[in-house]
Amino acid sequence: MAGRNFLFVPGPTNIPERVLRAMVVSMEDHRSPKFPALTFEIMPGLKQVFRTEQGTPFIFPSSGTGCWEAAVTNTLSPGDRVLAARFGQFSHLWIEMCTRLGLDVQVIDCEWGTGVPLQQYADILKADTGHQIKAVLACHNETATGVTSDIAGVREALDEAKHPALLFVDCVSSLGSIDFRFDDWGVDMAVSGSQKGLMLPAGLGILCASPTALEMRHGAQLKRAYFDLNDMLVANANGYFPYTPALSLLYGLAESLRMIDEEGLDNILARHQYLAEGVRAAVTKGWGLKLCAKEAKWNSNAVSAVMVPEGVNAADVIARAFNRYNVSLGGGLSKMAGKLFRIGHLGDMNEVHLMAAIAGAEMAMLDCGIAITPGSGVAAAGDYWRQHPAPTGLAMRDTGAGARDTRALAGASPSAAIKS
Ligand code: PLP
Repeated sequence: MAGRNFLFVPGPTNIPERVLRAMVVSMEDHRSPKFPALTFEIMPGLKQVFRTEQGTPFIFPSSGTGCWEAAVTNTLSPGDRVLAARFGQFSHLWIEMCTRLGLDVQVIDCEWGTGVPLQQYADILKADTGHQIKAVLACHNETATGVTSDIAGVREALDEAKHPALLFVDCVSSLGSIDFRFDDWGVDMAVSGSQKGLMLPAGLGILCASPTALEMRHGAQLKRAYFDLNDMLVANANGYFPYTPALSLLYGLAESLRMIDEEGLDNILARHQYLAEGVRAAVTKGWGLKLCAKEAKWNSNAVSAVMVPEGVNAADVIARAFNRYNVSLGGGLSKMAGKLFRIGHLGDMNEVHLMAAIAGAEMAMLDCGIAITPGSGVAAAGDYWRQHPAPTGLAMRDTGAGARDTRALAGASPSAAIKS
């Protein structure tokens, strides 16, 4: 198929050229005296993205799922009770894992399209005066439904109940895209991965552990070997890894962290919000469709899950977008299969790039018989973006040193071009 594929699954996300190039490296001795410089560049950069001074970041050659396991097995013992809410495929899978590892999971089942039920967490924690609950799990951004939860609110619930349970947060699809604050929110274990906001291929599981969580490893009885934080701590202290690290991904990570530092985390978060608002305008104002997120407070700035009308299979829309227009949209998972498609708008993205998702989805929906007005999504998103100031990361392209000089192109002298 001529032309490029447009990737809008909510991870893996688009990789910036700079990061792609940085990963093209010859293999090297990961035990050489030179190697630690790379580790010592990456770790402080990760701490900035997690917004932590207290936390210790870890990098595993795994995916995010590996770090779910690392978080749990390094802190808990068989039969320990954990509190968790299920409102999408990823919150479900973490619960499943905890059960399989032998934990006693107290599950709150919530409607998909909502997020962490703060009042229920608060009530349960208050009632647990014997402190049977050892950890509270929260999925910050449920990628399956496009729902963001209030993690500061979970911390408040713990504090109000004066409950000592650890706070474990899945920030796989929020880190680097949606405001996440490890220190301010008193997070104990934050689980992430390389292929979302960090704009890398899949292959790195990224974890951040609080001093309290690290202390727990001495008593935690769950079995662990590959994911033992102790081995990592010992090797990382000298800039090494206990086994062969994913070298090219680490070079990519160093570059993506440089890019994040250059744009500025706050600017990146503002850009994500602005882009997401445009997509939401396309979905609700343009197409007149609904998001899976039940209320605006749950809206995710990383991914929008679009409900298709009754009688239409969203899988057909996704297949049509891919086969005919070379646009990759995310599918509905589990309970939501066939009911929605997802537009990932996280990572390396700007307005016009995102227009490909909106235009592609629009054409595919029309082809599948969904009664929307042609061009309505593109118009609504464009209206939003033209009427709102662009965040720094986007506006810089307008005025930066690389701005194109159209006077030279016109072949006229600068002064003539200005007059005409
Ligand atoms: N948690 C969330 C919120 C996710 O979106 C994903 C993957 O998309 C995971 C966990 C699992 O991560 P991975 O696929 O990297 O193992």
